[in-house]
Amino acid sequence: MYNLYDYGGDGMKLFTDTIVGISTAQSQGAISIIRLSGDEAVEIVNKVFKGKKLTKVASHTIHYGHIVDINTKQVIDEVLVSVFLAPKTYTTENVVEINCHGGLFVTNQIYELLTTVGARPAEAGEFTKRAFLSGRIDLTKAEAVMDVIDAENKAALKIANSALLGKISGFVNEKRQELLDIIATISVNIDYPEYDDVEELTNNDILPRLLKVYNELIITLENAKSAKLLKNGVQTAIVGRPNVGKSSLLNAILKENKAIVTNIPGTTRDIVESSVQLKNIMLNLIDTAGIRETDDIVEKIGVERSMDAINKADLILFVLDGSSELSDEDLEIYNNILDKVHLVVINKSDLEQKLDTNYFKEYISISTKEEKSIEKLESEIINKLNLHNISNKDITYISNARQIEKLQKAINALDDAFAIINSGCEIDFVDIEIRKAWLFLGEIIGETSTDSLLDELFSKFCLGK
Ligand code: GDP
Repeated sequence: MYNLYDYGGDGMKLFTDTIVGISTAQSQGAISIIRLSGDEAVEIVNKVFKGKKLTKVASHTIHYGHIVDINTKQVIDEVLVSVFLAPKTYTTENVVEINCHGGLFVTNQIYELLTTVGARPAEAGEFTKRAFLSGRIDLTKAEAVMDVIDAENKAALKIANSALLGKISGFVNEKRQELLDIIATISVNIDYPEYDDVEELTNNDILPRLLKVYNELIITLENAKSAKLLKNGVQTAIVGRPNVGKSSLLNAILKENKAIVTNIPGTTRDIVESSVQLKNIMLNLIDTAGIRETDDIVEKIGVERSMDAINKADLILFVLDGSSELSDEDLEIYNNILDKVHLVVINKSDLEQKLDTNYFKEYISISTKEEKSIEKLESEIINKLNLHNISNKDITYISNARQIEKLQKAINALDDAFAIINSGCEIDFVDIEIRKAWLFLGEIIGETSTDSLLDELFSKFCLGK
């Protein structure tokens, strides 16, 4: 288990060395930011700064000056230096940020100079890791920092910001406290039984309280699925036999020509991927090659990849040609997707209809040629995924795999607690399972995390963050 004081096997290391990192992207821009954090941050920058004496300035102030090579006395760059003194800083340590000109060469010159006068190059995510280790933020907030950076759409940004503001931590802490209260009730009643009968205690007091926590965890897990879709986009596979209009549908949705539209069966040999934003929800559309038995090697790869795309998809748009009769091939594909989240899309509604629609309980008729009912299809997609309005609701969204896994484990432990209660076993055994749930919830916020987990987690961060 992680312990603040023996972190890294040498407790003082964390608090004595000063790290430096380039916080902006490694490409040419107008401005670059070089950041330092640690006890010596101000002194180190002061050694190479020509301007005000930085060791004398007030916290949270910004200063104009020059970075000068200490050996040659040559000016390297004209800069603005911000000084933030501990503890009200990103890491809770002294932090200095240098805004220099955004050339790669000049930025690296300053960075290297700082490493020669006492700063150590920061590892990926080390600034945020320090913020976590000092207790300023918990693990869900640290992960949210990365999610804000990674966000590619409005929903993802909203979810990340809600975690950064402490929504997940607040929820998890509340549920842990409720579990702790239940544990306390059990302990007190084991030692000083207030009820004569243990069964009465569990049924009237513990069970309802436990159920309340359990149900809230279940709802949060359900929301996590929607959150994942909102955050990562909905993997949407467009399937159907050749020539039914899959590529045309993709184009109609994208409103631009990214897929090849042709009437020779089997030409969409590989999968085509494009993303489109539908009412705040990102659809990652995959136009699959027509699924069918084939001898053509190139096409076969496409067919295999289609099956793969179907298996990975969150949603399948099953396209049929309304102007021709239902074929065995259509039915075979339909059988493959039946137990997945899907929409039956009958295309070519502009032509005379020959397809027997009685076969399908629900379907939507469209014409990609005449752009008929495309918007209706888009609304159906949102409905099917239960995502209408969800991005506007104030919900606790747990959206990363690590947090979801811990939440699931906490739920499993409570499942076991209920099983023990139902079997009429000793109340002590219930207590053990509730404690497990409490520990798993603690892992979500990083209260109980191992060093290796933290190393792995923060290594995914950008350098300088
Ligand atoms: P895919 O093989 O399933 O990707 O089908 P395509 O999108 O390549 O379309 C096959 C053929 O059907 C092309 O000639 C399209 O122009 C035609 N097509 C697609 N959608 C419609 C439609 O809504 N109405 C009509 N009449 N033709 C369509």
